[in-house]
Amino acid sequence: MKTAIYPGSFDPVTNGHLDVLRRSLKIFDKVIIAVGENPSKKYLFNAEDRKKMIREATKGLNVEVDHFSGLLIDFAKKKKADAIIRGLRAVSDFDYEFQTALMNRKLDSSVETIFIMTRGMYCYLSSSVVKEVAQFGGDLTELVPDNVHAELKKKFKKD
Ligand code: ADP
Repeated sequence: MKTAIYPGSFDPVTNGHLDVLRRSLKIFDKVIIAVGENPSKKYLFNAEDRKKMIREATKGLNVEVDHFSGLLIDFAKKKKADAIIRGLRAVSDFDYEFQTALMNRKLDSSVETIFIMTRGMYCYLSSSVVKEVAQFGGDLTELVPDNVHAELKKKFKKD
């Protein structure tokens, strides 16, 4: 059984993330979504909420949702993952992803990083853009799953 780790902030999960996930599941038997908890990053949703939204949006898929802090490669080893999945949207993603993939390979060459190209319709979609649009009450249909849309509405009503 081949397992991949798909790490990210997922703050919150978008249809772009879910598209990469579904396509990864055509290659791997199981995908572990690893929600990052980086103390130096400011998130809109805490890790528990981010995980809950992902679980709801991935019902029926062979997906495990977990969180990690520290080195991704250590988490990948602990989970016995064969590969790390990352999505690529634009050339601007490339530099950082290239560096990170090379560093991860230096730390453990047995875990391969695999890049999945975005679908055209999602190439401008990011969690940051979604949060910005949500803040001003813009239309998020087709950009995030319904449960995430509902959580965003709640978040920005309260604040
Ligand atoms: P991070 O802070 O680790 O970049 P994100 O949640 O922003 O976390 O992204 C996680 C992964 O999903 C990254 O590899 C990113 O490139 C990818 N990703 C995010 N949005 C899209 C999208 N619209 N299409 C393809 N990949 C995406």
